[in-house]
Amino acid sequence: MSAHLTGLIDKLHTDRSLDKAEWAALIAGRTPELAEYLFALSRKERQRYYGRDVYIRGLIEFTNYCKNDCFYCGIRKSNWNVHRYRLTEEEILSCCQAGYALGFRTFVLQGGEDGYFTDARMVHIIRAIKELCPNCALTLSIGEKPYDSYKAYFDAGADRYLLRHETYDPCHYKALHPPSLSASVRQQCLWDLKDIGYQVGTGFMVGSPGQTPEHLAGDMIFIRQLDPQMVGIGPFIPHHDTPFAREKAGALDLTLFMLGLLRLMLPRILLPATTALGTIVDGGRELGILAGANVVMPNLSPSDVRKDYNLYDNKLYTGIESAERRKGLEDRMAAIGYKVVTARGDSLNTSNE
Ligand code: SAH
Repeated sequence: MSAHLTGLIDKLHTDRSLDKAEWAALIAGRTPELAEYLFALSRKERQRYYGRDVYIRGLIEFTNYCKNDCFYCGIRKSNWNVHRYRLTEEEILSCCQAGYALGFRTFVLQGGEDGYFTDARMVHIIRAIKELCPNCALTLSIGEKPYDSYKAYFDAGADRYLLRHETYDPCHYKALHPPSLSASVRQQCLWDLKDIGYQVGTGFMVGSPGQTPEHLAGDMIFIRQLDPQMVGIGPFIPHHDTPFAREKAGALDLTLFMLGLLRLMLPRILLPATTALGTIVDGGRELGILAGANVVMPNLSPSDVRKDYNLYDNKLYTGIESAERRKGLEDRMAAIGYKVVTARGDSLNTSNE
């Protein structure tokens, strides 16, 4: 094992930061042995702050209409093969109610950028959810909005917002998105969300087409600067009806390595073991937990629409609609020494306060 690279991990562990060249060298030079060295430290940090608890978030994918045309995404607007759906407010509330009974205390409303859900409609839904489950946290993940819209949702009771920056480098961002979208606007949204007082989550895809270790280095430096409460990362996975249909998926080892690095850089963050990670390999989410992750986000969407929220091929559709399924998740986490808990699971990275 390279002493130079273990030295960089030790430096990250003590300083919580590296410079761009150091990040890139560490990421490019990773080996299975180096990864084990990293994970031993990242697990220790995770356990220091969060013990062996695994927080669960009930994910409700409430619309797959989207006005955007991101090259990687299966529900991009120019994919005519998607069967489009929207849940009604009533359906969303019944997902929350069912989730509450199963021990979920955080709900994540995720969707495409769907003009049907105006600010007024969103505010109505947010208020209704908070009325139904006042002791739960509500997370939104509905893309780029003007400051005032974010503010209106926050004032209505939304607690958290997930908006992955996707990739920090503006040229790489351009290579993944249509000309109407830009890295700087996306990043400004994150600063706006922070300013308003949300617990903010950002993140990126690992192994997206054209991504280099230098790009990932830029992502790490941006994330440290933003100092978010959560970071969601997962491998890029091609979708057959997108311009990236023939691109290679992101690698498991790189995704796990980035999880470990994130845990060392910002030890108090919430770090999900994502669905995409569970999709590229059986047991991927367990490996994510063992690399330093502490959150899983099972699907609470009604089972008949799950297959239509198809961001990438072979996406896991298993939800958690029953107590048996929750038990199944508990068993899988228990098998690796971790414990699913019923809690809001707020971030300990509380730079907002
Ligand atoms: N419209 C919302 C939600 C997007 S979907 C928004 O703009 O934030 C949530 C995340 O799925 C995206 O941020 C992206 O990082 C990820 N995603 C989309 N397509 C993907 C693919 N093909 N492979 C892996 N992840 C993908």
